[in-house]
Amino acid sequence: MPNEVDGSTHAGRFAPSPSGDLHLGNLRTALLAWLFARSTGRRFLVRVEDLDRVRPGAEERQLDDLAALGLDWDGDVVHQSARLPLYDAAIARLQRAGLTYECFCTRKEILKAASAPHAPAGAYPGTCRDLSPSERDERRATGRPPALRLRAGTDLFTVEDVLHGTYTGTVDDLVLRRGDGVPAYNLAVVVDDAAQGIDQVVRGDDLLSSAPRQAYLAGLLGLPAPAYAHVPLALNAEGKRLAKRDGAVTLADQAGLGHTPRDVLGMLARSLGMTDDEESVTPQQLLDRWDPKALSLDPWVYGM
Ligand code: GLU
Repeated sequence: MPNEVDGSTHAGRFAPSPSGDLHLGNLRTALLAWLFARSTGRRFLVRVEDLDRVRPGAEERQLDDLAALGLDWDGDVVHQSARLPLYDAAIARLQRAGLTYECFCTRKEILKAASAPHAPAGAYPGTCRDLSPSERDERRATGRPPALRLRAGTDLFTVEDVLHGTYTGTVDDLVLRRGDGVPAYNLAVVVDDAAQGIDQVVRGDDLLSSAPRQAYLAGLLGLPAPAYAHVPLALNAEGKRLAKRDGAVTLADQAGLGHTPRDVLGMLARSLGMTDDEESVTPQQLLDRWDPKALSLDPWVYGM
């Protein structure tokens, strides 16, 4: 697949959703994605995943924060909202191959059906997969626009993760296009990573379980799956995923405490075991001492 930037197919990326400010866990993931990409001679791309939940001003602050930490990226920032024809083309391809079906289920119906015994955790139970033409007409007549789902040919798929090794996870009939017409995250991410020449995906390990369905979908579209590195999340002192309410968790909050972006970079580096106490470091210095094999898979507990 041709690359959109310069014909090379080696790139890593950071792909934030502009739903709010980046917190220290997100910034740590961005730093790791940058280190993984730069240390392997890859370009580093930033893609704004703005198909959903956009908060005005969030994108600008996210990009400012990355730049303030000294994380640079190549080329223009790409926006998913400007790439709808690419997603449409991928969906059309799957439709032509007979690999899609309309789904009329509500969220509530799915939750109820998915909690049935023997249903794989979190998987769509296939309620609308084999509706007869008359059943389908009946549901269409309710007037609620259907979602479009993938007719998956497997329940499981295996990916390789640099940190987690061989990982096998659930593949279900995932949503390709939501009922409101918006392309689904799993589809967009697969299309974009391939179209942008991204062959290394570094992101939070909350998305590890999504990697098998994404890699499977890439295969159906004739696209290569990237190398994955799912990195540990930041947690609060209670062991829950770090969130806005957990104190001074954004660069702006930290600035309010008198901590510069360089101080915050030092904190992130310390959390990765890459600096001694209070040492001030640049991203370039971290790159010189970066060793992915030394990365702990344990979450970073902030505020301890
Ligand atoms: N946009 C997603 C997020 O901010 C990340 C998706 C990905 O890295 O694949 O959680």
